[in-house]
Amino acid sequence: MNILETHNLSKFFDGLKALDGVSIEVPRQNIVLVIGPNGSGKSTLINVITGFHQADEGKVIFEGEDITNKPPHEIYRHGIVRTFQTPQPLKKLTVLENLLVAVPHPGESILRSLGRGWVSYEEEYVEKAYEILEFLGIDHLWHQESYKLSGGQLKLVEIGRALMGEAKLIVMDEPIAGVAPALSHSILDKLTKLKEMGVTFLIVEHRLDIILKYVDYIYVMANGKIIAEGREEEILKNPEVIEVYLGA
Ligand code: ADP
Ligand code: MG
Repeated sequence: MNILETHNLSKFFDGLKALDGVSIEVPRQNIVLVIGPNGSGKSTLINVITGFHQADEGKVIFEGEDITNKPPHEIYRHGIVRTFQTPQPLKKLTVLENLLVAVPHPGESILRSLGRGWVSYEEEYVEKAYEILEFLGIDHLWHQESYKLSGGQLKLVEIGRALMGEAKLIVMDEPIAGVAPALSHSILDKLTKLKEMGVTFLIVEHRLDIILKYVDYIYVMANGKIIAEGREEEILKNPEVIEVYLGA
């Protein structure tokens, strides 16, 4: 069963067709990768799926429900959480605080804080955040201000924030860009474990050498269109892919 589908998505920027009839399927508990040269429309696809850009044509279906052009906070509440190419956690907050502010219904926590439930509510989330940090292997950094972290550690914090948000589908734009190979593999190992635990991933990435063995299915974009799709072996053999992407 597909957790996410796009049907003929198109997006124009002043006459430029950044997305041109893009249809993809993301099966539940899979890691689906979108590759393609710079400017091929990968980030635009993610932005339209997560509500940061409006689609001009087509549909986004999540768990059978039409979520096309809903505002980002509503899409987030459905369980789609995105991370950003340049991590944007609030840099002055500690790692633990960064996870706590990602709790999906902050309004409730203010209400609850006026009543008797305050302590248990807070403790429950601190405990959950700590468990997530342990899982990601950055629990020892819980009190560290985020601006002091390395690029790779920040990516792990972003994943932690997505998990606090009770993500069913995590959408990531270049999760290992600028991250050293060893830490990249360790991040991708965590994603694989999360997949086994039930989370689905849609990932845009440039570094094919490292990521390919972790993914279940690949879409290749060029000029706003899907030009090829398949598993690793099929993609790497496809002459059109080699020409437009690998051979350029
Ligand atoms: P990729 O992520 O594959 O590098 P993008 O989705 O960022 O590609 O961009 C696809 C095309 O859309 C590019 O030609 C880019 O210049 C254009 N584009 C992306 N975002 C905007 C925007 N906000 N306004 C105008 N043009 C944009
Ligand atoms: Mg991009």
